Amino acid sequence: MRFETQLLHGKTFGKSASGEILPPVSQSSAFRYENMEELEKVFLHKRMGYAYTRIGNPTIAAFEAKVNELEGGAGAIAASSGMSAIAAALLAVCESGDEIIAGSGLYGGTIGLFHDLEKLGIHTVFAEDLNADEVKRLINDRTKVVFTEMISNPALKVPDLKAVSEAAHERNVPVFVDSTTATPYIVKPLALGADVVIHSTSKYLNGGGNAIGGVIIDGAKYRWDTAKHTALKGFEKYGKLAFSVRLRTDVWENLGGCMAPANAFLSYIGMDTLALRMERICENTDRLAKALDEIDGIDVNYLTLPSHPYHERAETLLRGLGGGIMSFRAGSKEKAFQIINSLKYALIASNVGDVRTLVIHPASTLYLQAGKEETESAGVYEDTVRISVGIEAAEDLIEDFTEAVKKSL
Ligand SMILES: *Cc1c(COP(=O)(O)O)cnc(C)c1O
Repeated sequence: MRFETQLLHGKTFGKSASGEILPPVSQSSAFRYENMEELEKVFLHKRMGYAYTRIGNPTIAAFEAKVNELEGGAGAIAASSGMSAIAAALLAVCESGDEIIAGSGLYGGTIGLFHDLEKLGIHTVFAEDLNADEVKRLINDRTKVVFTEMISNPALKVPDLKAVSEAAHERNVPVFVDSTTATPYIVKPLALGADVVIHSTSKYLNGGGNAIGGVIIDGAKYRWDTAKHTALKGFEKYGKLAFSVRLRTDVWENLGGCMAPANAFLSYIGMDTLALRMERICENTDRLAKALDEIDGIDVNYLTLPSHPYHERAETLLRGLGGGIMSFRAGSKEKAFQIINSLKYALIASNVGDVRTLVIHPASTLYLQAGKEETESAGVYEDTVRISVGIEAAEDLIEDFTEAVKKSL
């Protein structure tokens, strides 16, 4: 089955006893039982069943099964947001005194989270370009995880994931990938050696911009050794599922960041059109980037431009696709604002992955909290305009942006 077909006909989909094609929205906080013995069995995991929606819910489970199948995982856990998913995943493997190696140019919220973790004694070191040599240079006995984005937002850095995974595994360190901007349409990080994949489903997986959510998918290939990963002590008996079990029954459950059932439903149906949307989004972004790059004085950041520093890796790891995020430098903050304000179709909004084209000036919004160095390493300058390209007609987008940019010159 090809990916486009799998999106609609995966083996775990539509398994409801009453025949619904889509998972019913189980909008109930709790689940009742005929007698106390039955509920006890549910708590003891001696029978299948749901007790309380923070811990489990049929609509959320259907969503988890679908994402898990699309990423080729062994199990998935849905979360209230992408940030909640990243926080829970990292807290499940790191304790005070531990270190994280991270790629750079990451999402602003994730950089903020690393600052929060610092206060809990978990230190992060950043690699300007995440490759095998950098991992070998930065890794030490305290390193508990390598974390990277696949197509970083908005720098558009692409880690050398296969080589990075090999280098990390050699030192018994797992690799977690935030694949929000790439999506399984472009790449499946587990197949390239990553151990855990995370998404902000708020973006491309949902696609309609109608529900915040996150998900963590465990490949369950990594051999957890609790002598090293002391955070997983007590979970040895679950073997390769130690991470998933600790997350589900411990960190994620106790942090309380479950996905809402209605959001699970919206994200589930959103994924039906992932391939169609991504195909159009990648084509539109490629055409818009190339059109703007033709204009003298405009510096465009997009992976399919041969001059892009990560063009080669996009060719080898991402099927030559660049995703839906691009940016350009307008010359000054004033010009960036002027261009943004004069666009006809692009909406001024702080989001990516919507079917509608969205535009923002990241330096004065998303990176307000970050330092200058972190901001520039994320590919964000005073004059940067970020575009999340939608599924409109490419010609309209090209006309709209070209006109706005030319007026500013
Ligand atoms: C949006 C985003 C997040 C955070 O997700 P939320 O759902 O907004 O919490 C994390 N990583 C990346 C790459 C994102 O684009």
